[in-house]
Amino acid sequence: MKEQKILYADIIIDISHSRLDQSFQYRIPERLQEQLEPGNVVLVPFGRGDHPQKGYVLRITDHAACAPEKIKEILQVETQLAGTESKLTALALWMRDRYGSTAVQALRTVLPFREQAPPKKKRQLVLAVSKEAAIEQLAVFRQKHQIARARLLEALIDTPMLPMELVTGSLKVTPSVWRPMEEMGLLTCQTEQIYRMPAVLKALQDQTQQPLSGQEQTAIRLNPAQQSAVDTICTNWGKRAGRYLLFGVTGSGKTAVYMELIAHALARGEQAILLIPEISLTYQNVIRFYHRFGDRISILHSRLSQAERYDQFERARSGEIDVMIGPRSALFTPFQRLGIIIIDEEHEPSYKSETVPRYHAREVAQKRAELEGAQLVLGSATPSLEAYSQAEAGIYQLLSLPDRAVGGSLPVVHTVDLRQELKTGNRSILSGLLQEKLTKVLQEHKQAMLFLNRRGYSGFVSCRSCGEVMRCPHCDVSLSLHRGGRLVCHYCGYETPTVRDCPNCGSPFIGGFRAGTQQIEEIVKKTFPQARILRMDADTTKGKDGHAEILRAFGKQEADILIGTQMIVKGHDFPGVTLVGILAADLSLHVSDYRAAERTFQLLTQAAGRAGRGLDPGEVVIQTYDPEHYAITCAARQDYTGFYTQEMAYRRMAGYPPAGNLMAVHCAAADPDRLSVAVEYLAKFMRQVAGKYQAQVIGPADEPVAKINDIYRKAIYIKQDEIKKLTAVKNLTEQYVEINTGFRDIRINYEVN
Ligand code: ADP
Ligand code: ZN
Ligand code: ZN
Repeated sequence: MKEQKILYADIIIDISHSRLDQSFQYRIPERLQEQLEPGNVVLVPFGRGDHPQKGYVLRITDHAACAPEKIKEILQVETQLAGTESKLTALALWMRDRYGSTAVQALRTVLPFREQAPPKKKRQLVLAVSKEAAIEQLAVFRQKHQIARARLLEALIDTPMLPMELVTGSLKVTPSVWRPMEEMGLLTCQTEQIYRMPAVLKALQDQTQQPLSGQEQTAIRLNPAQQSAVDTICTNWGKRAGRYLLFGVTGSGKTAVYMELIAHALARGEQAILLIPEISLTYQNVIRFYHRFGDRISILHSRLSQAERYDQFERARSGEIDVMIGPRSALFTPFQRLGIIIIDEEHEPSYKSETVPRYHAREVAQKRAELEGAQLVLGSATPSLEAYSQAEAGIYQLLSLPDRAVGGSLPVVHTVDLRQELKTGNRSILSGLLQEKLTKVLQEHKQAMLFLNRRGYSGFVSCRSCGEVMRCPHCDVSLSLHRGGRLVCHYCGYETPTVRDCPNCGSPFIGGFRAGTQQIEEIVKKTFPQARILRMDADTTKGKDGHAEILRAFGKQEADILIGTQMIVKGHDFPGVTLVGILAADLSLHVSDYRAAERTFQLLTQAAGRAGRGLDPGEVVIQTYDPEHYAITCAARQDYTGFYTQEMAYRRMAGYPPAGNLMAVHCAAADPDRLSVAVEYLAKFMRQVAGKYQAQVIGPADEPVAKINDIYRKAIYIKQDEIKKLTAVKNLTEQYVEINTGFRDIRINYEVN
């Protein structure tokens, strides 16, 4: 006879309280030994009364943690959910491993857990026989003097569906009365879930009651490029979990493609998840989907309460909805038969989570699609280097939409060299050319958008005469100006006193760049007193609907000029806009981040893409101190592949993602001295381990913001081309931190790429 090893499972019971892993060990009964895997959802006896509780299998081991006779046995594996929850649990465990976190933190990110009251339930009694039969029975009750039964049946003949409050309330009918009637088959008791509906959904339901405008009403016929993309994806659907990169220029009609794909999923009896950046959630886009798919859709956004989100996930689980639209967390919608995941504007930084586990939605979507056998479609006019390089490697199939959908060509782009402006004596933030174009727009009663690129606006120092930026001699990133006049590199810790004159040209006009949207609004007002101006930034969009309100007003041509930060760049379709002005285009080039050029190129291309979306051709003015930089020249030409080639060469040379992998270990503590000591130890340990895995350790160095709320912050970076080796170093580091009491009061978390 084959000898059976006794196996145990470490199981996490409750994810709603602690953020730390506390697992309990259970014995795996023989009948389950073959099938049980980490990630499975099981029922186990728990607590005093041994009540069956749901648990998540963390790992399987043949080593008992205490006396084996004291270990209880797993009751059963949860199969009722057709494995959906187990797949999501497996996804969570993958995320824990990939990004570094506790299992509970990963599970809480993926699984909807209940912090507040469960969804309300509405119970009602429903007449289960025909009216005629009921009237006959009513006579019988009356004859037998069964007054309460008669009273209830009479009410049901009148209204065949009675809420329970009414039954027990004004009708004064108790269960002892209606239960026997239920057994007789006269009525049934039904329970209906009442979900908490987020305000956005209600607003959309109201909006879609209104008829569509003429243009929106005519159903879109896909053009050949769109149709070909849809056909390619649909032909292979069901045969394999396809991965596609839909590379379509701004205005090429990617949304229509998404709709067709979602319709295809629904026709197959499958469900769809569409991720869109938070910023474009509020408006036009979602309405279009609502019109097409109606109540089969739900929407998430980051301001939903935990309970509201939970309820929408419940609706998905129960099959009440088939399409989920939302930001990155919508990725975890527990659909039973997920057919497709679409990520619109996949290059957007908001797809990366800022909280532990710091996952990237693109990567997690790839994993989930793989687990579920679902299709994955990424869409963008400016694909991330990650996505495009994977398309080059054949991991994604590239589908192109090279032209704008509504005829019309891409805008004409002018680049203005701000150094020349300074030479000719113009110190205004508005160049001569931009002023000229704005005058024309106002005369012709068209609209303009002015975009202030201030992403990562963290005090780099540049020369206003020659454009020279103070850089780290070791790292190829710009230095940040710290208080006390020090210039600091956030990658290696290099420091140098700040300069008074430009080391390149000797000009005294060198310093941090300062200009906000508010200052720009004042300048534009002074220059064009007759213009109606709207400003959109963190200040003006504070209110609940501030954001949508500004966009609506501008869409209705209630203003001539819209001034804003990156908020105005994305996804909005304003046919009246013929001019886009980009002020200080290179501001984001000098952020101390290896993605600076990529972000700049994306922002400029997307901003330029706002111009000329209607029938009138568009023009773009890009103002910059660095007109020869490839991020700017390529954006001006709307030349994605040109940019990609140059940027990828730089990443290869420097070993940055996606050419290599980079992990940051972020450390924070209230006591700066203890932090310094701890990170030195940690870096030393990592260097030892890294040697074995041919990984390179950089730092420790201060974080870009070295202190927040009196908590000091430092980081260690580690580079290695292979993600597996990087993960191995991370896992060893996690273990080292766990067993060393010296790290107890240091907050440590990991960030991959
Ligand atoms: P993208 O998301 O690629 O920037 P959109 O999906 O917003 O582009 O489409 C841009 C505009 O083109 C929208 O107004 C849309 O209604 C329109 N459009 C898309 N496809 C077609 C088509 N096949 N025929 C006519 N108009 C279309
Ligand atoms: Zn200079
Ligand atoms: Zn450096």
